[in-house]
Amino acid sequence: MMPKKIMFGENAAKEFPYPKNSLVITTTTPDIYSKWLDYMSIKNYEVYDKVTPDPAIETVEGIKKQYEGKEIGAYIGLGGGSSMDVCKYLSKLTGVPKILIPTTFGTGAEMTTYAVISFDHKKKLLQDEAFLADAAIVDPYFLAGTPFNIMRNSACDAAAQASEGYDSKAGNPFTQFFCKEAFDILYDAIVNDKPNMLPYGAMLSGIGFGNASTTLGHALSYVFSNEGVPHGYALSSCTTVAHKFNKSPYYERFKKIAQKLKFEPLKLKQSLDQAADVIMPDRGHLDNNPIPVSKQDVIKCLEEIVNANPLA
Ligand SMILES: [Zn+2]
Repeated sequence: MMPKKIMFGENAAKEFPYPKNSLVITTTTPDIYSKWLDYMSIKNYEVYDKVTPDPAIETVEGIKKQYEGKEIGAYIGLGGGSSMDVCKYLSKLTGVPKILIPTTFGTGAEMTTYAVISFDHKKKLLQDEAFLADAAIVDPYFLAGTPFNIMRNSACDAAAQASEGYDSKAGNPFTQFFCKEAFDILYDAIVNDKPNMLPYGAMLSGIGFGNASTTLGHALSYVFSNEGVPHGYALSSCTTVAHKFNKSPYYERFKKIAQKLKFEPLKLKQSLDQAADVIMPDRGHLDNNPIPVSKQDVIKCLEEIVNANPLA
């Protein structure tokens, strides 16, 4: 599955024919998004800019209520994953079409059937065909001004998703085709300093892994995320060690990406045994790993992540 309409490349967001009475949903501030909306030359719209990171279901329901009875042509999710996730869930509730425009690039969320929404302060990964964008617009224009830290976390996530997705047991020649092409583009963009190619690589990665799955690297990463490490950062070491464990064809090149982005080694506050108990029930990732993973294997991987520097 992929969005009905995909526009990508320079000026894609400028040339898109936006429907009338669109509701732009964003996490950013007026000084930033007013420039973006000027660039997009969009007319007849309203902006909802009160979405916060890790959006809760209450936010989604609040927006639905606020705009009830108004005829909205489309929701436009403009920003990082949170803006897009809110649009996805809203559109499922109301049936209003959604246009997704990523500005940080990396999750590939504009291409997938996944959304992360919090219920009772707990993040939940949801999957629904109704979350697929009616149109996805991928334009490197929005990269300008992105801080290096956000850029490198996103780039690392995209590369991890493409390579884990390639190795996934849930994959097939079609998804592998996208994952392989995505990784080649991302590798070239990162190692040879061509940031304008990152959005296209992340987009292809979204189509590839979004129709397969990620695997051991992502499973290992969440115990670090739970202790506050950004997702892409956690993957730099976790996916490297997972690729080594899996004898992945992407081990060497993924490690080179993590080195180029200058990631530091990771630390873990909880014990490795405790962490392994958190990781083992994550069957969605572990069952799709190319080889079976035992609790002992997980502990060994964690040990390598925190005690040996896997990026050295
Ligand atoms: Zn990821």
